[in-house]
Amino acid sequence: MKEKIHPNYVDCVITCSCGNIVKTRSAKPKINVEICSACHPFFSGKQKMIDAAGRVEKYRRRYAKKAAPKKAVAAETT
Ligand SMILES: [Zn+2]
Repeated sequence: MKEKIHPNYVDCVITCSCGNIVKTRSAKPKINVEICSACHPFFSGKQKMIDAAGRVEKYRRRYAKKAAPKKAVAAETT
């Protein structure tokens, strides 16, 4: 192997947001993931809310805020 061009291959701990921990080896010592083979619906066979961060909710809230003033204006003019 050529020297000084290869990344360090170290022990790695992958932590999932579901609490599952996978120990492996990688160029990074720590990896955080949101979904893993233990909690993904494909592997668990269970329907699960992947939208843990509430991204859809956030989007809906933001969209509602923007749509509301328009409605108010339309109501005033009619
Ligand atoms: Zn997981």
